[in-house]
Amino acid sequence: MKVNSAEIVISAVKPHQYPDTDIPEFALAGRSNVGKSSFINKMLGRKALARISSKPGKTQTLNFYLINEILHFVDVPGYGYAKVSKKEREAWGRMIETYFTSREQLKAVVLITDLRHAPTKDDVMMYEFLKHYGIPAIIIATKADKISKSQWQKHLKVTRETLDLSKDDHLILFSSETGEGKDKVWSLLQYLAKN
Ligand code: GDP
Repeated sequence: MKVNSAEIVISAVKPHQYPDTDIPEFALAGRSNVGKSSFINKMLGRKALARISSKPGKTQTLNFYLINEILHFVDVPGYGYAKVSKKEREAWGRMIETYFTSREQLKAVVLITDLRHAPTKDDVMMYEFLKHYGIPAIIIATKADKISKSQWQKHLKVTRETLDLSKDDHLILFSSETGEGKDKVWSLLQYLAKN
């Protein structure tokens, strides 16, 4: 999909702040520093719409981006950053749980992982949380440019097995450097938005 317009609509904390529309939504989750902002920027063809995080764990809002007037990306604050206090982590958990479990417009959660490494404990927890609530997941294994092509399948297998991916979920290899996977992700998102 060619992105003609992409703009931030609102940074929300509470449900009453979520945009009041029927536009299909995709939330983006991942641990801090995994490459989530880079993924969003690459998908949107923007250099820095989603801030490339200088302070991991800092943004504790759900950032809604309206794309081509037809879908929303919802940037979820990164998890797994050690220096976040218990109180902040709990507030984060409540915000995410409320959003994930109550938002009818939510079509799927895009979970970003690092292709180089097996998904972390936090990644597994996030995936299990999604499955517990029956939310479709799209796993994006990013930073593919950092390992050689001959190793891709092996690393994808580790990702699939560590998360114990269900058959219905999607796993797509990605690179924000090269744009690898971008067209595949857009095709899938457009399909899911319509169905
Ligand atoms: P976030 O905290 O998840 O939003 O992560 P960022 O998007 O800020 O990325 C963290 C770091 O990884 C930055 O230095 C990025 O330039 C780098 N990065 C992100 N995606 C890729 C990628 O696909 N390839 C490479 N080589 N570096 C990446």
